[in-house]
Amino acid sequence: MINECNIVRDLLPIYADKATTADSEKFVSRHLADCEDCKLYYKSVTKTTPKAKTTTELPLSHYEMVAKKLKKNKLVKHTLVAGGFAGAAVFCALAYIKGFSKNN
Ligand SMILES: [Zn+2]
Repeated sequence: MINECNIVRDLLPIYADKATTADSEKFVSRHLADCEDCKLYYKSVTKTTPKAKTTTELPLSHYEMVAKKLKKNKLVKHTLVAGGFAGAAVFCALAYIKGFSKNN
């Protein structure tokens, strides 16, 4: 036997965001009208997950902070390496131009 409550509770997060299909929305609202448990569950879900709160706004754990720092360090390293190559290329070009103008 299919437990409608489980299906409805699976759909509730997207139902709350109004991202369900019309059929799912009908199914959920019809169930919520009949099922007190799911109605309460829906209320608790919409209370604890306000739309403005996303995972990025939550305080970062120590691990996440370290991961971010490492990512930044990697970016800095890549930038330095790229800058080094660019500098070497400019140096070579200047040397080439100088040598070229000497020969002429
Ligand atoms: Zn239910």
